[in-house]
Amino acid sequence: MASPRIEINLERIGHNVRMLDALYGAKGIKVIGVTKGVCGDPAIVETLLKNGIETLADSRVSNLKNMREAGIKAQFMLLRAPLISEVETVVKYADISLNSELLTIKILSKYAIAQKKSHKVILMIELGDLREGIMPIDVTEIVTQIVKLEGIELVGIGTNLACFGGIKPDEGNMSQLSAIAGELEEAFGLSLQFISGGGSTNYNWFSKTKNVKRVNNLRIGESIYLGCEPLHRTIIPKLFTDAFKLIGEVIEIKTKPSLPYGEVGQNAFGEIPVFEDQGLMRRAILGIGLQDVTVSGLIPYLDIDILGASSDHLILNVKQTILKIGDEVSFHLNYGALLSAMTSPYVTKQYDESIECK
Ligand SMILES: *Cc1c(COP(=O)(O)O)cnc(C)c1O
Repeated sequence: MASPRIEINLERIGHNVRMLDALYGAKGIKVIGVTKGVCGDPAIVETLLKNGIETLADSRVSNLKNMREAGIKAQFMLLRAPLISEVETVVKYADISLNSELLTIKILSKYAIAQKKSHKVILMIELGDLREGIMPIDVTEIVTQIVKLEGIELVGIGTNLACFGGIKPDEGNMSQLSAIAGELEEAFGLSLQFISGGGSTNYNWFSKTKNVKRVNNLRIGESIYLGCEPLHRTIIPKLFTDAFKLIGEVIEIKTKPSLPYGEVGQNAFGEIPVFEDQGLMRRAILGIGLQDVTVSGLIPYLDIDILGASSDHLILNVKQTILKIGDEVSFHLNYGALLSAMTSPYVTKQYDESIECK
């Protein structure tokens, strides 16, 4: 079988989606399926849709375009604020976009009118993480302008936390989002469809809170694919953490010293590496490298250690594990590794429908 490859268990992804939909749904929160971690892969997003997801969200317009062109029928959301240079295609391929700049929304309006469409906007509010969002003090002024724009429908507000500043979703910031929603509805006579509190990182707040207040929406990626929440990487009960596996093949296996010898200079990445002398070591090389995956996000299932990688080689200390040339070695991936492997043209995708452990 081709390698490197990523084995994708669609049944397990489907199971995770159903569980999360039921969990969040029990407190009135709808789950949007975030597809950026899987590069909008059509087989995976069909699995999301079959298991209860109605809206698909991605940070790249090109992924939204690919999904539409693959014939996927869903509501599509752009997660990242549109680039000015891509607004026309945003209106074409996204039904909804997350926004934080009035100028961009004005240009969205222009293209929505030209394309005879109504483009839905969710206004992002800054609540402390300091990535995207307008400051709460500016909300009223900006909404006054947005509601005047033709072709634009303000359908909600949202926030994003724990991405840049590491600020956790909590009672304080979620209550603030709810309060802003209430104030806007009253001041402008709106009925906001989306009060979007965040993503997978909202799990801990959600589990503890007695009252989600007005929060009725979360944009979830990591929990669906990896079965965990991103703040502490705690596994969410009853979810599969191994819907994805990366497989590489052994191309060299030898006993060699653990300490490189000869004169020391820079390695392939401009670093001067430091090694500890552990005597002779049973070492394997796999035909996977940094062009295939973010190696720091791989965890081997076998009792072996990853020593490092270059663009096309992964170097392992296999310890007591018996491996030979041609053997396959599988790895668990974290979210960054998943994203990189799904994006790499060198990694073959293989789908498996059965839920059984292999
Ligand atoms: C990536 C992203 C999400 C989803 O994050 P997960 O951790 O995968 O759940 C939600 N909202 C925005 C704006 C994002 O960029």
